[in-house]
Amino acid sequence: MTRNHFSASDEPKRSSTEALDTKNEREVGGRPNPPRASRSLQRDINVSLLIELVRQAGSISRAELARQSQLSAPAVSGIVDHLLKRGIVVETTTAPSSGGRPPVLLSLDPKAGYVVGIKLRGDGLTTVVCDLDAGIIVSLEHYVPLVGDPQAAIEAIEEETRRALREAAVPPSKVLGVGIGLAGIIETGSGVCRFSHLLQWRDVDLAEPLRRRMGLPVWVDNDVNTLAVAEKWAGDAGTAQDFLTLSVGRGIGLGIVIDRSLYRGAHGAGGEFGHMVVEPGGPKCGCGRFGCLEAMVGEGALRRRVAERKGHDVSRDELQILVDLGDSAALEVVDSAGRKLGLAVANVVTLFDPELLIICGEGTSLGSAFIDPIVSAVREQTFADLGRGLEIKVQNWGDEAWAVGAATLVLRESFNLPGADDRSLAIWRRSHSSSSTTLSEVGLANGR
Ligand SMILES: [Zn+2]
Repeated sequence: MTRNHFSASDEPKRSSTEALDTKNEREVGGRPNPPRASRSLQRDINVSLLIELVRQAGSISRAELARQSQLSAPAVSGIVDHLLKRGIVVETTTAPSSGGRPPVLLSLDPKAGYVVGIKLRGDGLTTVVCDLDAGIIVSLEHYVPLVGDPQAAIEAIEEETRRALREAAVPPSKVLGVGIGLAGIIETGSGVCRFSHLLQWRDVDLAEPLRRRMGLPVWVDNDVNTLAVAEKWAGDAGTAQDFLTLSVGRGIGLGIVIDRSLYRGAHGAGGEFGHMVVEPGGPKCGCGRFGCLEAMVGEGALRRRVAERKGHDVSRDELQILVDLGDSAALEVVDSAGRKLGLAVANVVTLFDPELLIICGEGTSLGSAFIDPIVSAVREQTFADLGRGLEIKVQNWGDEAWAVGAATLVLRESFNLPGADDRSLAIWRRSHSSSSTTLSEVGLANGR
């Protein structure tokens, strides 16, 4: 196996923050080491802040950067010099002069760094290479059975990362890291998957072996969480402080963002909404229990119930076709599942009082037959009519967008620091063509 894209070193020294040439002593791919010089920490925060201000502005002068960041002019100059040297920012056109010397403007160079995002599924993985502006450079699909086989996943991730970077013609020195999203309970600090019922994994260390193999920082998170993070930094969540990302399809997941922070829970299992038992003694769930929401309204359940009505197996494609054709049995099953799911979501809305609910996942392809009853239940079944004022958006994302969500992990970790004011540190916006529709566009205007 060639290692032309990575150093074969067992102890990769390069960290994401070194890409910015800062003095930060961050563990490769992990959380920052707790005992660190506060000066270094402060510098990192300032670097992140300036990058974000440049990104937001498009182009901006040093003087304006100093004003907006409230840093001293020499501090701004010092950091900007570093960023210029690394090519993260470039000097661009000059602003119209109001007399005197026109200031030189600074812009972010989206090609100054690249990130790899990977979405793992039971039957394979989607890999993207994105630039700093989250533009997709390369997107690859690879099918390989990963259920019960973490070693196959580690090998496939390495192979696909190499292949993607080769196709993108991105030199290794410009790669900030690899982000991986998968369904399950993830210990994000160590990159260990504690449990994934979908992949049937338990205590799988993903990040460390991959770091060693590839010599790149690696971050791992629950896939719905990566999507919520992507929404927060780049997508429809915009300025929302408190929002929920509901994913419907093979699995039922929930990303919970409270006060602009992802809620993970004490064990990283926060948001395992699909495994709330809603019917004791109900159908067996992939997690081993009975009557979980996912076992009642997930894709598998919909197909099984339509199959019972039809007297033969129903594939995902067939389910979609039946719904599209308005088959009454399929529509009844999907409508009833939508109501059940909607009621559960309404209860979560009552619990968290979010300002925005984003519905995404492959299940959205079933369209209004599935989404309308979810939305109606949310509108009608919440305490104090919270659901009526709730903004609801539907996104028809594919696996590629989930991989971009995983890539945001790297962008976030590379230019962000825990504990800092995260609203000032966003680094990217999604610039690829994800389709985001409003309720009225998908015929839900009457959902009230
Ligand atoms: Zn379950």
